Amino acid sequence: MADLESQADVIVVGAGPAGSTAAAYLARGGLDVLLLEKATFPRPKVCGDGFTPRGMKQIIDLGVDCSQAGGWLHNRGLRVLGGGVSLELDWPELGSFPDFGAVRRRRDFDELLVRHAQKSGARLREDTTVTAATLDERTGRITGVRGHVGRGKDKRPVSFRAPLTFACDGVSARVALSLGMVKRDDRPMGVAVRRYYTSPRTNDDYLESHLELWDRSDPDNPKLLPGYGWIFGMGDGTSNVGLGILSTSRAFGSTDYRALLSSWLNSTPGEWGYREENAVGPIGGAALPMGFNRTPHYRPGLLLVGDSAGTVNPFNGEGIAYAMESSSIAAGCAIQALARSGPAAEHALRNYPLAMRSALGGYYRLGNLFSRAIGNPTVMRLATRHGLPRKTLMAFLLKVLANLYDPRGGDATDRVIHAMTRLTPSLK
Ligand SMILES: Cc1cc2nc3c(=O)[nH]c(=O)nc-3n(C[C@H](O)[C@H](O)[C@H](O)COP(=O)(O)OP(=O)(O)OC[C@H]3O[C@@H](n4cnc5c(N)ncnc54)[C@H](O)[C@@H]3O)c2cc1C
Repeated sequence: MADLESQADVIVVGAGPAGSTAAAYLARGGLDVLLLEKATFPRPKVCGDGFTPRGMKQIIDLGVDCSQAGGWLHNRGLRVLGGGVSLELDWPELGSFPDFGAVRRRRDFDELLVRHAQKSGARLREDTTVTAATLDERTGRITGVRGHVGRGKDKRPVSFRAPLTFACDGVSARVALSLGMVKRDDRPMGVAVRRYYTSPRTNDDYLESHLELWDRSDPDNPKLLPGYGWIFGMGDGTSNVGLGILSTSRAFGSTDYRALLSSWLNSTPGEWGYREENAVGPIGGAALPMGFNRTPHYRPGLLLVGDSAGTVNPFNGEGIAYAMESSSIAAGCAIQALARSGPAAEHALRNYPLAMRSALGGYYRLGNLFSRAIGNPTVMRLATRHGLPRKTLMAFLLKVLANLYDPRGGDATDRVIHAMTRLTPSLK
């Protein structure tokens, strides 16, 4: 007899923002969803904990409470520092996005989302590590996944079957790798590290970003790095402080990011508190897979979603909004497909990469070019020195870098950005 426990309409691997969002939409669409997660909740996740209005829109769309009373700390914009200038830029007023961003610890946020997915009807299996996709040898179609439950001597093998599998397992991309789907070297990658500090700057109406990151490990030859540092007040007595660097610089492979974080923070004012004695927990870091750096996003039976599909924005390193957005697009295609049969079902699934390209492909191609340009230290130096003192230019750049513009209606700057993303050929 078939083991119903290990069968579903859709298997979702990984319960981060991508997996939990997908599971909620799929379950609401009437599908039986198995959500497999190697950790148990609540669990920590290394992150900046920052949300732009693009991320908040996704949370609102999903129907999750994002009010201050519900534990969110809202902010009104971005403070940018560099070239001796500090500029406060409010989030733009748009029809398509809310006018606030927020911070929330990932430990909380990811649990909030996974409980939402369960309430929507998804079946969560924690402590379940997927090691590989399984496939029908004859057709090459993905038929599910295998892995193990538990750890150590309690570990036992398991396998799960479904007509569709969503790989939402983050940057480690275990499912995709088991099929030989490696990351693309022609797309940018980032590395980011962060740490919490108790700080008097814990309450801040703005997300703060520092555009000048100097590597002073060789005092005779300081290098301006392509990336930025952030200081996000968490409102709970701490700040989340970190930095992200792009792979397009020569310094990428050879930089000690943890040492760079400490040396940058030691150069900030002592009264901010970002010193060893105020640190809460260790420095954590991970890679940022950007600009669609793993493709194809669909192969028969399998959809790559979120970080496993390389959906981090190459302009600013934001990943949560795009993990959720790709989930919502993928879930829509899966719901359509499973209501059909034969070639018509496959047609709906092949729509997923096309819809991703149409939503983000032009913008991400621009982002990939941008990341290559700022990999050149001269471009970076000129940009911080001459761009920052010009507030109108920076307000325009904020819209570009955070992907916050109205594709329809909107003002002249929105129309320019929309035209730029449409005229740029989409990534494949
Ligand atoms: C230092 C740092 C700071 C960042 N700051 C920000 C920020 O401020 N704002 C922002 O928007 N983005 C930020 N990002 C990016 C953001 O964290 C990611 O883009 C986002 O978490 C992607 O979501 P996801 O669901 O695709 O993957 P993940 O959040 O990584 O979730 C993957 C899930 O899958 C599970 N999993 C993994 N492998 C397996 C397996 N084999 N079997 C079962 N389960 C598995 C994991 O336990 C996890 O729960 C930051 C990233 C880093 C590294």
